[in-house]
Amino acid sequence: MTTSLVCHTHAIAPSRVIRGEQAWQQGLPAIADLCQRPALLGRSPSTQDIRARLKADLIGCDLAVVESELQFDCCEDDLTRLQAQLQATACDAVIAAGGGKVLDAGKLLAHRLKLPCITVPLSAATCAGWTALANIYSPDGAFIADEALAACPDLLIFDHGLVRQAPNQTLASGIADALAKWYEASVGSGSSTDGIIQQAVQMARVLRDQLLIDAREAMAQPESEAWVRVAEACGLTAGVIGGLGGAQCRTVAAHAVHNGLTQLHACHSKLHGEKVGFGILVQLRLEERLGGNQLAAQSRRQLLPLLQELGVPVTLQDLGLGEAGLHELRAICSFACRPGSDLHHLPFDVTETDLLEALVSTDADSRSFSTSLETEA
Ligand SMILES: [Zn+2]
Repeated sequence: MTTSLVCHTHAIAPSRVIRGEQAWQQGLPAIADLCQRPALLGRSPSTQDIRARLKADLIGCDLAVVESELQFDCCEDDLTRLQAQLQATACDAVIAAGGGKVLDAGKLLAHRLKLPCITVPLSAATCAGWTALANIYSPDGAFIADEALAACPDLLIFDHGLVRQAPNQTLASGIADALAKWYEASVGSGSSTDGIIQQAVQMARVLRDQLLIDAREAMAQPESEAWVRVAEACGLTAGVIGGLGGAQCRTVAAHAVHNGLTQLHACHSKLHGEKVGFGILVQLRLEERLGGNQLAAQSRRQLLPLLQELGVPVTLQDLGLGEAGLHELRAICSFACRPGSDLHHLPFDVTETDLLEALVSTDADSRSFSTSLETEA
C-alpha cells in the first residue's frame, strides 16, 4: 500500500452561480446581500452601454456604484491605480463586467483588497468568471505571469442575454480555449493516479465531445439550445475542470504557446482563445513528433477543419505573423520554453528548436490543408 503525504488545496467553484436568460435581474438581490458600495469595473468602449444599464439597475437596488475603468489589459499599472481608487472611495466589493482580462483584474483587486468579488462575464470567450486564477500582462499586452488566488469569486452571474450580445468571434475563441482543456489535461494529467484528477480529465473529454457536436450550430444560431450549452461549456464548465483538477490539471503546451505569442505585438489583436487554438495544433504536433503519439496526428486532422470553420487562426499568417522573421518566431519559442513554463508539463523534453520546428510545420500543414480544400471546391 502506498499513501501520499501531499495535500491538495482546491478552489473549485464560485460560492454561488446564477445562470440563465435573466440571470442579471435575478442576481441583483444576491449582489445587494454582498455589498452597499461596489466598484463596477470594465474596460472596452463596446461594453459601455451595457455597463451603464447594469449601473442603473444597481442604483435601483439602493447601491452606491463607483465606476472603474481599466486602461490596458490586466496589468500592474492598472491594478495599482484602481486599488488606490477603490480604497479612496471606500468600495466594499468589486463587480467585474467584461471579458477575461476585466474579470481577471476584478478578481485580483478583490483579492488584494480582501473584498467580495462578483463576476459578470460579457462574453463566453474564457472561463475567467469562474476560476481562482488571473493572468497578468504588461501594459502592452505581453503575458507576464499567472497568479493563483485563494478562492473563486463569491458570485458569478452568467446572463445569457448579456453574453449573447458579444461578437460571435468571442464565442469561437471560447470554444478553442475550452477545447484546450482536454488536449492539455489529458497529456499533462492523463497518467495521474489521483481519482479526482482522473475524473476532471474525463470531464474535459465530455466537454470536448459536446463542443465538437454543438459548436457549429451554436455559432450559426445564437438563439438555439446548442448556443446555451456551448456558451456555458466555455464560460462555466471549463472553469469546473480547472477547479476540480487543481494545479495539476491546468495548462500545458497550448497555453505556453499562447503566452509566447503574446510577446509579439503583431498578434495582439487576436483573442486569448484564438492564440490557444493555434497552440493546441502546435502541441499535437509536438506529441506526434517527440512523444511518438500517432493519435495526435489524427486529433489534429479532426480539429483543423473545425477551427478553420470557427475562424480561429490555424496558420502564422492568420495570427498576423505572415511577415514574422526567424528571430520573432524564436522569441515566441524562447518564452514558451523558459524554465517554469507550463510547456514542461509535457511528458517529454522540448527544446526551443523542437518548438520552432513544430510551429513552422504546423503552419505548413494547415496551409496545405487549406489548399486541398480549395482544390476540392
Ligand atoms: Zn485559456
